[in-house]
Amino acid sequence: MVVQRTAAGWVPRLLPPHAACYADSVSADSLSLYLHIPFCTSKCGYCDFNSYEGLGHLAPGYTEALLHEVELWAPAAREFRVDTVFFGGGTPSLTNLDDMAALTAAVREHYDIAPNAEWSLEANPTDLEGEHLSGLRALGINRLSIGVQSLHDDELELLERAHSAERVVEVVGEARDAGFDNLNLDLIFGLIGQPLARWQQTLERTLELRPEHLSCYALSVEPGTALHYRVAKGELDEPDPDIAADQYEWTRTRLSEAGYEHYELSNWARPGQRCRHNLTYWRAYPYLGLGAGAHSLFAGQRFANVDAPNRYVEAIEETREERRRTGSGTLRQIAGGETPDEATLQADAMILGLRLIDGVSTAGFERRFGVAPDAVFGEAIERHAGLGLLERDGDRLRLSGRGLLLSNEVFIDLLPDPPEPDAAGR
Ligand code: SF4
Repeated sequence: MVVQRTAAGWVPRLLPPHAACYADSVSADSLSLYLHIPFCTSKCGYCDFNSYEGLGHLAPGYTEALLHEVELWAPAAREFRVDTVFFGGGTPSLTNLDDMAALTAAVREHYDIAPNAEWSLEANPTDLEGEHLSGLRALGINRLSIGVQSLHDDELELLERAHSAERVVEVVGEARDAGFDNLNLDLIFGLIGQPLARWQQTLERTLELRPEHLSCYALSVEPGTALHYRVAKGELDEPDPDIAADQYEWTRTRLSEAGYEHYELSNWARPGQRCRHNLTYWRAYPYLGLGAGAHSLFAGQRFANVDAPNRYVEAIEETREERRRTGSGTLRQIAGGETPDEATLQADAMILGLRLIDGVSTAGFERRFGVAPDAVFGEAIERHAGLGLLERDGDRLRLSGRGLLLSNEVFIDLLPDPPEPDAAGR
């Protein structure tokens, strides 16, 4: 199915199955589903995600809309086997068990779910407790991704997180008791004023919790966030990139010693426990994002839903109303999208592929696009290989250890040139 822009909005148009799908998809029949829950109890100071505090009263109507969107996309996805389902946010762990039961049942009813599918849910330590955790496990959620960020209370306060370090330790124990044997813990390093030793303490204490998976991201001060405002006012210093680089280097060594595989710039896993859902994104395989602000890559097109939860609920209702009246209709929840051209697809494949520690298979790239990466990116590849940021290993092209620290320098050079301005200079 293709979503095309018409005067009336975005409408689904049926194509022969997988006609526009990516040639090296895990298989053209596999699909990942993402369901976005945009509500949070409070907005963390560094967060620029599509998440909102104080809108919990919208949750019942929002769940209804999400259930309808699950159904709306089902005909288009009927040829696909769904390998991963991911409830992200926002804070999906705020969703009550009845709503979660309805959502998981709808996904199972309307999609062909692989028997060994990965069902992930993002959670905050404060929202989960024994019964809720057991309930989620009973619904088939088999992977929890818990937002830990730090195991120092003063750092959690700086980030405006709602939990304590002690609560993290408790919740991990409760999740184990509820039967979760696949836990990701999210951490942030490079915090303002954080010396290497404090990060080391957080990581060492995290390792004692024996997570199957770890995501460790450097703090990024994003425009529009409360943290950005405080830094701009001079109330807080900028994070120190040199300390963050030292922390990252130490993390790579320490996690390797502890038996974790570094498989993506910011992600480590025990053998066999890589996040299958996120691999879909990094390999540019098809995924459908449902809910406010969710992004999709489907049938060779990229598109995104409207961000505001109330507008999303209205748009889903408008779509349903139009279909009731006319028997077909536009997908009014889609705010915009594009059909990426070949140059964009090639750049995506290189940039996303280089995020993976295994890098890009040059033969795989050539099979997919009919042209070798060197023929497209030769100059940039040679330059960054010369600078020691890229390295070749047989068929693979990957970031070097130094390249992992300076990945953005490489990625910028792989972006396609902007289109030539038209006669009017636009
Ligand atoms: S809980 Fe997560 S999504 Fe919500 S505000 Fe904090 S960082 Fe953002």
